[in-house]
Amino acid sequence: MFNTQHFKKFNGIKTPFYYYNTALLKETLKSMLDAAPKAYHIHYALKANSNPKLLNIIKQHGIGADCVSGNEVKRALEIGFTNKQIAFAGVGKSDEEILIGLENDIFCFNVESIPELIVINELASQENKIAQVALRINPNVDAYTHKYITTGLEENKFGINPYEFDTVLEHLSNCKNIKLVGLHFHIGSQIQSLTPFKNLCIRVNEINKWFLNKGLEIEHINVGGGLGINYQEPDKESIVDFKAYFNVFKQFLELMPSQQVHFELGRCIIAQCGSLISKVLYVKNGINTNFAILDAGMTELIRPALYQAYHKIENLTACVENRELNKYDVVGPICESSDCFGKAVVLPETKRGDLIAIRSAGAYGEVMSSNYNLRETVGCTFDEA
Ligand SMILES: *Cc1c(COP(=O)(O)O)cnc(C)c1O
Repeated sequence: MFNTQHFKKFNGIKTPFYYYNTALLKETLKSMLDAAPKAYHIHYALKANSNPKLLNIIKQHGIGADCVSGNEVKRALEIGFTNKQIAFAGVGKSDEEILIGLENDIFCFNVESIPELIVINELASQENKIAQVALRINPNVDAYTHKYITTGLEENKFGINPYEFDTVLEHLSNCKNIKLVGLHFHIGSQIQSLTPFKNLCIRVNEINKWFLNKGLEIEHINVGGGLGINYQEPDKESIVDFKAYFNVFKQFLELMPSQQVHFELGRCIIAQCGSLISKVLYVKNGINTNFAILDAGMTELIRPALYQAYHKIENLTACVENRELNKYDVVGPICESSDCFGKAVVLPETKRGDLIAIRSAGAYGEVMSSNYNLRETVGCTFDEA
């Protein structure tokens, strides 16, 4: 929640920039660790936000790292995550990226296809290494989220399909430099109901049984991430209900005593901690539509343009002055019609120079920023000095 203190602080900083509330990040991590049974292993998905200062805080809470590129693996190691805390997923790992994982003896490669399995085996053999591997399985469970962030359906590019399991096992018997240690699932992102997670548990149980029947008791069961946050009411629900989330897995996952459960959470850890702070450059009043044109655009935060995502928009200047309400299309300066943060947004009368906060932007915000239109790289600041 922003107040006049923030307003004063922000007023002296060049916009646009990301503002991160590290106190909220710490509270969120604590709440998550309090809610998770001791035996659960949690990995933070770096792709949501790989800002070193935030990663340091996350690392200090003792959780692992989930990476989707060679550079993310390197970043995680630089920050001080141990190699055995690092899982490496991704549908298209290059040879160079696989080698980074092998050289550092990471915990596990989440393998997404048979051709990838073969390449990892070849490279591991060449490097005299044994690669620990989890099979990323496409469980065909609907996450009921935006189609661009659904990953666990047959039509999605991710993972190995159950009809391929027999072939995978045949290949594995020839892959002398691969050790199968896990089964991995990830059905999508911004999942707002717990039902898809329950459905996932039921599928995981079936798939696990299939492997058990083949005599394979696979040690690590990784159920991925995807827990959604409340973009509508970031102040009412600044921390997700981790207890209810973990309870689904406690209740519905049926595993052997030796099997360990892993999670890969990104958005729900970091999203509410970040806001994009911007200034109004111009207000353009039309017959039907008023536009508030900001100095931030899709180059700083692409989610609205990419996924029609909703972010709450607040006028921070108006929180120190009393003004009448009006409706604005809040847009950026980029030469694309999709460069719009919100249509018909009700805001206090908005003027040139007002500070605007775009909330819940800590996940998939700064990491997705670009220099399109030769824009400056977006900066950031933190709650502590
Ligand atoms: C992106 C991703 C995650 C994290 O998803 P969130 O929705 O941010 O929790 C976890 N696992 C894999 C494999 C991913 O690609």
